[in-house]
Amino acid sequence: MRPLQMVDTLTQYHRIKAEVDAAVIGVMESSQFIGGKEVNSFAEELAAYQHCKHVIPCANGTDALQIALMALGLKAGDEVITPSFTYIATVEVAALLGIKPVFVEVDRQSFCIDPDAIEKAITPKTKAIVPVHLYGHSANMEKIMGIARRHRLFVVEDNAQAIGNDYTFSDGSVKKTGTIGDIGCTSFYPSKNLGAFGDGGAISTNNDALAGLIRMIASHGQSKRYYHDVVGCNSRLDAMQAAILRIKLKHLNEYIDARIQAADYYDKGFSGQKGITVPFRASNNRHVFHQYTLILDGINRNELHEYLAAEHIPSMIYYPVPAHRQKMFESFGGANYSLPVTDWLTERVISLPIHTELDTEQQDYIISKLLAFTNR
Ligand SMILES: *Cc1c(COP(=O)(O)O)cnc(C)c1O
Repeated sequence: MRPLQMVDTLTQYHRIKAEVDAAVIGVMESSQFIGGKEVNSFAEELAAYQHCKHVIPCANGTDALQIALMALGLKAGDEVITPSFTYIATVEVAALLGIKPVFVEVDRQSFCIDPDAIEKAITPKTKAIVPVHLYGHSANMEKIMGIARRHRLFVVEDNAQAIGNDYTFSDGSVKKTGTIGDIGCTSFYPSKNLGAFGDGGAISTNNDALAGLIRMIASHGQSKRYYHDVVGCNSRLDAMQAAILRIKLKHLNEYIDARIQAADYYDKGFSGQKGITVPFRASNNRHVFHQYTLILDGINRNELHEYLAAEHIPSMIYYPVPAHRQKMFESFGGANYSLPVTDWLTERVISLPIHTELDTEQQDYIISKLLAFTNR
């Protein structure tokens, strides 16, 4: 059996090595390292894949989120509603801009922001909702867009973990996550479903005016070279990463299918096991399984984590401390929040290896060891 890893980017690279190597050399030969053909073509190809009007590449997913909030004109004193059960980047960028992140509860099944909790957290200062499509499952975008319309709020989707997820609305229309709200943000961090060989990110929107502003902000607020209209930042996807991502984008659907297949196999292996809840999949979305995350009840999660490690099976706790309990947010009144579902999940989730190269021999081993522990 091949050694187990949370994600196996090396084997994945070897499958497309010839093409990737040629693309990287092509960039070196072109000497066009910043911007240029590869970056522009990648942006166009990702927009076509997502059926959205504009994709603006940037340096990483965190920048994408920050630029999105800047483009919407959010400023100190404004509030954005976000889940606490997420990766820190989602909420850190708000705090960085002096915006107050208002943490709300997630849905116990989908791990994503609870629409009813959003409604209750709205104040006159609320400007935007930032749902996170956690682990690759979409938030309830139909309800969230309804709330946003009623209260005239912006929606910024944190799509770092769910690129390629198809979300079906009740009228039958289908949209990719990250193209439903005003702005969608994604990350090409190497372990993400569409991973670069370094850092990368992108911002998606169907709004022409916002696209122009986003492009400007990501490039020092430049309207044309050396004319700076707004305060911006310097956030670029480099050409080498773009060249690699163009190749990997062609395989994205196949990569997603491999992840779903692995998830199906785990589901079967764990079905009917007491104390183990397999990931929920709403029928209206294509869960892209950035993570395969179990909820354990009555099973000592931390002991299991150590037991698996001793059996050479990596597992991860995403995330061991929710945002509202981070020291970073003490000054934002983090301690005043009561988010029992978030705390409940934080103590019970465990993520198993899932990636495009996982085989059934490896999965059989993981399943049998995990069940040997829980059935002791
Ligand atoms: C990875 C990730 C980010 C940040 O992306 P980077 O490219 O690492 O900056 C933001 N939000 C979520 C939910 C993520 O998983």
